[in-house]
Amino acid sequence: MKPFLELRDVYRTYQVGESTVQALRGVSLAVEQGEFIAIMGASGSGKSSLLQILGLLDNPDRGDYYFFGHDVSKLSDDEQAGLRNNLAGFVFQQFHLLKRMSIVENVRLPHIYSGLKGNYREEAIKRLTLVGLEKRIDHTPNQLSGGEQQRVAIARALIRDPLIIFADEPTGNLDTKNSAEIMKILKGLNEQGKTIIMVTHENEIAAYADRVISMRDGLIVSDERRGERAGSFAGMTESDFTSMTGRKAAIWKESRITGFMAQAFQSILANKLRSFLSMLGILVGVASVIAMLALGEGAKASMQEQFKSMGSNMLSLRGGSSMFHGAAQGSGAVARFTFKDVDDISKLSPLVKNAVGNIGGNVRVVYENKNWSTSINGVGFDYGTMRATLPAIGRWFTREEIHMREKVAIVGVTVVRELFGNTNPVGKIIKVNRINFKVIGVAPPKGFSGPRDEDDVVIVPVTTAMYRVLGKEYLSGIFVEVSSPALIQQTKSTIDVLIRKNHHLKDDDDSFNIRDMTEIQQMLTSTTQTMSLLLGSIAAISLVVGGIGIMNIMLVSVTERTREIGLRKSIGARKSDIMLQFLVESVGMTLSGGVIGILIGIGTSFLLSFFAGWAVKTSIFSILLASVFSVMTGLFFGLWPARKAAELKPVEALRYE
Ligand code: ADP
Ligand code: MG
Repeated sequence: MKPFLELRDVYRTYQVGESTVQALRGVSLAVEQGEFIAIMGASGSGKSSLLQILGLLDNPDRGDYYFFGHDVSKLSDDEQAGLRNNLAGFVFQQFHLLKRMSIVENVRLPHIYSGLKGNYREEAIKRLTLVGLEKRIDHTPNQLSGGEQQRVAIARALIRDPLIIFADEPTGNLDTKNSAEIMKILKGLNEQGKTIIMVTHENEIAAYADRVISMRDGLIVSDERRGERAGSFAGMTESDFTSMTGRKAAIWKESRITGFMAQAFQSILANKLRSFLSMLGILVGVASVIAMLALGEGAKASMQEQFKSMGSNMLSLRGGSSMFHGAAQGSGAVARFTFKDVDDISKLSPLVKNAVGNIGGNVRVVYENKNWSTSINGVGFDYGTMRATLPAIGRWFTREEIHMREKVAIVGVTVVRELFGNTNPVGKIIKVNRINFKVIGVAPPKGFSGPRDEDDVVIVPVTTAMYRVLGKEYLSGIFVEVSSPALIQQTKSTIDVLIRKNHHLKDDDDSFNIRDMTEIQQMLTSTTQTMSLLLGSIAAISLVVGGIGIMNIMLVSVTERTREIGLRKSIGARKSDIMLQFLVESVGMTLSGGVIGILIGIGTSFLLSFFAGWAVKTSIFSILLASVFSVMTGLFFGLWPARKAAELKPVEALRYE
C-alpha cells in the first residue's frame, strides 16, 4: 500500500529581494495514518516550511509530494483547497481566530467552504464541548485567555472531522499548564485515530508524540519512533479522494452566498464610521440622481399640465407669414378670416372638434378717474372652454349676448389691478374706447407668455369688438380644437387647403399661418431633456467618485485582513470564495449607500415640493436606475481589490504582518 503522505527529495527556496533562503534542501519523508509526529529543530531550521508543504498551504519548488498517493503538483489550487477543507485541520501558534466573530462562529467557519448543509452551530458547540469551552460559545476571542483561544482553534480544526491535524507550535504562546491541556487534547485525538503532525522546539511537548523528526538547516537529521502508532486504517479509495477535492457545486453556492452576506454585513458593521464615510459618495450620487430626476419629471409634468389647460390639441390660424404671431395679431394681416371660415373649419368632422374666431386690438379703458392702455380680445362663445378662460369670479358670455353685440366685458387680473385695486369689478361699468361696458367676470390668471402679459386684456364678444369697438369686418384669428393629437398634422393641411380655396390664395402665398402647440411643447421638452441629461451626468460623476472611494476602502480592507484571508484559505476557501466575499462586501456597501441615497433623494424632493413649491415627480424608473447603478458600482470597483485578495497564497497571507 502507498504511504499516507510521502515527500520525495523536496526543496523550498524563498526569494527575499536579491538573496535566496533555502528553507528545505532535499527532504524525504513518509507518514503513516494514525501517527503522532513531532518535528523538532532550532528556529529557522525549516520546520514550518515542511509543515506548510505537508498541509498543502505551500507547494515545493522541486521534488514530489504524494498526498494519499496522488501527485500534488497535478492538483489545482482549488482542489488543494478542497483537500484542506475535507481532510486537514490546522492549529497555529498565533491561533488565528477572527476577532469580529463569536467563538462558535469561528469554529463553524470551515463549514461555509464545505458546501454542505446542516445545523453547523450544533456541530460547533459539540466540538467546543470536546475542548471544554461549551460555556463560552458566544464570547469573542478577545474575551478568552491564550489557552482558551488555542482550544477554540483546535475545535475549529475538528469541525470537518479531518483525518490529519497540522499544528505549528500549538503551545508556543502558552504557559506550562495550558500547554499540558492542549497536548492532552491532541493526544486524545490521536488515540481516536487522527494523524497529527506537530512542530515544536520543546522536548516536553515532543514527548507526547510517538515519532520525533529533527531538522537542521533544511534537512532531516534524525527520525526516531518512540511508541506504537494508534492503529492502522483502510486506505482511501479513488472516488473518496475525488469527492474530497471537488465539492457539490449546487448546494455549495447557495450556502456560501448567504454565509458571505451575513459576514459582509458583520464586517460593514464592525467599521461603522469607515463604512459610512465610504458609502457617502454613492449615497450623495444616488440621492442627487433621484432628486434631479424627480425635479426634471416634475417640471415636465407641470409643463404638460399647463399645455393641457391651454389646449394641447389647439391650432391657431393667424394672418402674416412670420413666426411672431404676437406681432401679427391685430396688425394689417393679409389674410382676413371671416365667420364663414370658422364655420367651414368647424364642419371638418371628424378632424375638428371645435373652432372659434377672435379679433384683437389695442384699446384704452377707463374706470372713474383711472385709465389704462390694454389689448382687447373679441371672442366667440366656445373660446371660454377651448382656451380655459371661463371666469372663476363672475360668468362667461351667453350666446345671446354674443349674437346681440352686447357691451359686456370680462377683464384680466392686470386690468383689474390697474383700474379697481382691491375692489370687486363685477357689475361695474368701464369705458372701452369711450363706450360703456359692464364687467361681468374676471378672467383666470394666465401669467406671461414670453414678454406678453396674458392677463393684461379685456375680453368681449367677438361681434361687439368687430362692429362696435374696432370697426372691422373680419376676424384676426381662428382657434381650432382638433379631435385628437394624432390628427394635428392632417388637420393642419386640410385647413390650409380650405383657407386657400376660400380666399383664392396661391400655394406659395404665405399670408397666413397655422401653428400648433406641439411645436412649442417639443421645444420646451427638449430643453428639459437637456437639463435632465446635464443633471444626470453630474450625478453619474459623483457615483464614479463614490465608487473610487469604495475601491480605496476595499483595498485597505484587503491589506488589513490579509491574515484573515490566509486563515480562510488554510481552512479551505477557494479563490472564488475569497473573491465573492469581498465583492459581496463592496456591493453590500454600495447597495446600502444606494438605498439610503434613494430615501434621502425622495425625502429631498418631498421637501422641495413642500417648502419651495417645486413640482417633483419621483419615478420607479429612477429608483430602479439608482439601485442598478449602485450595485454595478460595487461590482466594478470591488472587483480589483477582491481579485487582489483572492490571488494571495495561503502561507504568504498568514505570515503577513
Ligand atoms: P522554523 O519554522 O524551523 O523556524 P521556517 O521554516 O519558518 O523555520 O523558515 C526556514 C527559513 O526560511 C528561515 O531562515 C526563514 O527565515 C526562511 N523563510 C521562511 N518563510 C519565508 C518567507 N516566506 N520568505 C522568506 N524567507 C522565509
Ligand atoms: Mg516556525
